[in-house]
Amino acid sequence: MNVFQIPLPAVTDEGLAIDAESPGADLRPEGAAELLLGSVHLKGTLSNDGDEFIFNGHLETTYLGQCDRCLGPAETPFRTDVLWIFVQGTSPQPSEEFEDDEEDATLDDGVIRAYFEDNILDLRGAAWEEIVLGTPLKQLCSETCAGLCPVCGTNLNESSCDCRTAEDSETLENKGLQGLKDLYPDMNPDRLED
Ligand SMILES: [Zn+2]
Ligand SMILES: [Zn+2]
Repeated sequence: MNVFQIPLPAVTDEGLAIDAESPGADLRPEGAAELLLGSVHLKGTLSNDGDEFIFNGHLETTYLGQCDRCLGPAETPFRTDVLWIFVQGTSPQPSEEFEDDEEDATLDDGVIRAYFEDNILDLRGAAWEEIVLGTPLKQLCSETCAGLCPVCGTNLNESSCDCRTAEDSETLENKGLQGLKDLYPDMNPDRLED
């Protein structure tokens, strides 16, 4: 059993303190797209309120992936406060598809509501959903990554190249004013600053 699966009898009137760490891959629901993750750390309190169980705490993990600029490995840490409400019973909109479940479960207030029937409360689905929602649109190996030369592909973090006159708008954009000066060496720098 995964450490994110909680036997309900363990939740006393005072609630159950949870401090659990699981490999990210173990949380992935069947059929969901893979995500490259470090371990996932969940910390907080699970309390019982009648038919509902409420988990209040935070989740931490690291997205592992590829740097958007240089294609090298990138790690993006993630931490989010979470409030999950688990309702005993069946979902009013049962669905075979995980994607649909995911949409049904999240309301606009950012609170995840899910349903459970067994005597074991499985926190993996909610954790996975938080992680999917937090996925960064792009990752960088570092804020100052110089990227690849768009002309010759040289990794500019490791070495340099002689493609600086390239008429690539991205090069110009990345280099800003300096790029302009490189492209138009005759231009009076004072006029550029205006
Ligand atoms: Zn990079
Ligand atoms: Zn180059």
